[in-house]
Formats: sequence, structure tokens, C-alpha cells
Amino acid sequence: MKSLLLTGGRVIDPANRLDSPADLLIVDGKIAAVGKDAGAKAPTDVERMNVQGLVVCPGLIDLHVHLRDPGQTAKETIATGTAAAARGGFASVVCMPNTSPAVDSAGTVALIHERAAKQGAVNVFVAGAITKNIGGEELASIGSLKRAGVVAITDDGHCVQSHELMRRACEYARMFDLPVMDHCQDYSLVTDGVMHEGYWNTALGLRGWPAAGEEMIVARNILLAELTGARLHCQHLSAAGSVRLLREAKKRGLPVSGEACPHHFTLTDAAVAGSEKFWSADGKGIFGFAAGAVPGPAWPAYDTNFKTNPPLRSAGDREAILEGLADGTIEILCSDHAPHCGYEKEVEFDYAPFGITGLETELALALAQLYHAKRLSLSDLVAKYSVAPARLLGLAKGTLNIGADADVTVFDPDCEWTFDKGDTASKSTNSPFYGWRLRGRAVATIVGGRKAWIGQVEAAAA
Ligand SMILES: [Zn+2]
Repeated sequence: MKSLLLTGGRVIDPANRLDSPADLLIVDGKIAAVGKDAGAKAPTDVERMNVQGLVVCPGLIDLHVHLRDPGQTAKETIATGTAAAARGGFASVVCMPNTSPAVDSAGTVALIHERAAKQGAVNVFVAGAITKNIGGEELASIGSLKRAGVVAITDDGHCVQSHELMRRACEYARMFDLPVMDHCQDYSLVTDGVMHEGYWNTALGLRGWPAAGEEMIVARNILLAELTGARLHCQHLSAAGSVRLLREAKKRGLPVSGEACPHHFTLTDAAVAGSEKFWSADGKGIFGFAAGAVPGPAWPAYDTNFKTNPPLRSAGDREAILEGLADGTIEILCSDHAPHCGYEKEVEFDYAPFGITGLETELALALAQLYHAKRLSLSDLVAKYSVAPARLLGLAKGTLNIGADADVTVFDPDCEWTFDKGDTASKSTNSPFYGWRLRGRAVATIVGGRKAWIGQVEAAAA
């Protein structure tokens, strides 16, 4: 494999508290040197890439992605999903187990590993199911899932309702040193809700999904972490109460963590009432960098690309998620990339499946709401996409340590671009962000020293 020298970039490696201009040398798929003198150590035939004006950081990790493979390959495949990840700047993804069949046995884990080795553009790590067929009734064989190489267990898309069963899952997970990731949803409270329970669901005549339906299970998980000592990770947090509970639990030193997705800290339930309602109220000046200048794209009321689970919540909830990210309560950023076929979403709001794609927009949205809005430094933002998820999952990733796998992301935090429906690597187009003027974009994604994706390196070419 050819060696590669990235020159003139701003190297950010939060795990090593590094944020300074430096060159980065990759040899044989590993990080060989970082620093001003990295070039001196390069072999004579080294390939050079000028990354002046760009950020060079550990290959980003998205620990919450639905690749839909096996079984739902009309929505996405390992090839298309990982291609979208690479374009978004992600060198590693963790795929969720709600496939067909569900990832509840060693055989399915092996199948995904094999396909990912052949077709994957980036590293694919597998999350196993907590219960058989994600049915919430009987535990999956957690020990054999661990031996097969899963990095976590979750019933994502579903939530184990029986506290006793969840307790036993936690006890096994602790024994096998796996984090338990939970999609927090109390079925008896949420019933058949399709959007946030508040002003807008009443105005629109849609059934409500109350914030308490999430908070109830976050509280349950905190209690189970305390009882069992297992590492409990609450997925895609959307509600202010969840952040409050998590903050208090972390203060007490409990092994709990949380993640947030850009749609929950960018949009609100007003978006379900259409673009006009959104831009005139909750959407006002949300992108701090260009308040008033954002050409608000238009969409109709009841647009099913704004139907997610958990749902888009109130402006107060959105603010609480942003605060949780800023003060470190929420350590991890991710997309919950959830592709669906066009025909599935082209139905009444009530009947459409929950979920949106996100791999190609999450970095830009996170940059806008966290970095450009001055809530987080670039280094703290990068940490939530690298060292923090790697630590939770026990991966030897997320740093630029000498000798580490050369997973490297190069991005331009400032470049402005518009997300275009025709310009995606995903098989699906269920994103609410088409036509949005975004700021910040991946320029190159390097996986194990190999260029998984290279974008327009205009800034670097200058
Ligand atoms: Zn989920």
C-alpha cells in the first residue's frame, strides 16, 4: 500500500489534546507520524495531499446507523450505506440489528462481517439484538453474539418493555463487557403516537408521542445501571427531561451515557406543520452563522420526511439537547440514518414509517448548531464523533495515535453547499434537509490508509 502524507492541515486529535497545524504521515495503513517533521520520515515515493485550510482528525465514527442489510436491501445495502458514510466523513459505522433476520445469532453477525469485508467502503461494526427477533420476550444469546464480535447490544427500533428482562440483559452485558444501547420508548405511554405531543400535534390532528414516553425509560435505564453496574447508553435523546435525568445520574458517577442526532437539535415539531410555520417561529436564525440569510427551503405540512422516532420535539427540548451537548452530559453524536423506500414514505403521515437518512448531512448540521453557533469547540465536536463512541464500544479507534489504524477524516468546517436529492450515495432519499444551505463538509475519508472517498478538494488545490 502506498504511503500518504497530508500536508498543512489543522490536526485535531481530542484524545491526545492536539489541535495545531501539522502534517500527518500514513504508512502501511497505519498512522506513522504527526507533526511538523512528519514529512521528513516519509518514504521517497510518498503520495502528497495538500490539506491546507482543512481539518484533519480521527476517522469519524457513527454508532447508530441502519444499513438494512440483510433483508431490506431495497432501502439500503452495506455497499450503498457505507458509501454514504464515506461521503459524510465517516470511517466507521455501527449497524443496528433490526434487519431481516434480526441480528440475534452469531450466523447473522458473520454474514454482515463477510459482506462488509467485500462491499463496505468503511469499517462496519455490528450491534447485536438484546432479545430474540427483537421481540422483547426472550433474551438473545448474548455470550455467543459477543464471541461473534458484536460491539454492543440493542433492540433499536424497539424497546424492551419488561424491566425484569432488561435487568437480566444488563447482567449478561456486564459479564461480557458490552454496552447496552436502548431506544427509550414506553409503549403504554406512547401507544400509537406519530409526532411530539404538544401544541402542533393538536393543531394538526395527529396522535401525540409524549416526551414522558422517553423520559420514563431513561429513568428506568439509570436505575438498572445502578442496580447491575452495566453500561447503559440511551439512544437518540430528544426530550429535555431525559437530559436532566442523565446529567444527574452522571453526577452520581453511574455508568450511563447518551447520544443525540442533528435532526433533534436542529428541527422542532413545528416543522411537521410545514416550512412556513417552522421558519417563522422555531426556525428563526437557527444557523447562527447566517441568521436571516438562510434561504429557507420549502416543504408542505404533514411531510413524512419529518416523521422520526423519537419525534421532533419542542423548541425547549431542542435547546435542552444543545445544552446537554455543550456541557458534556451527552457525549456522543450520531445520525440514526434510517433509509426507507420512496413509496413507503409517500403515504399519509399516520402510515409512513419513522426515520430519515442522515449520514451525509450530520457533520454539517452538527457544525452549524454546535461549532458555528459557538456552543462547542471544533475539538469537542470531533471528540463526540471519535474518541467518545470508540471508548463506549471498546474500539481501538477514534485517535491519531502512532501505530493506530489510519482512519482519518479531512473536512472543511466552513465551505457552504446545498444538499441535493440527486447527489447522494444512499439508496434512499427520505431526508428533510434537501435544498438546505449547509456549512461544513467532509473532503476526504481515509480508512486504514485507503481513500474511501475523496471530494472536491478546492480549498486544498488553491
Ligand atoms: Zn431507535
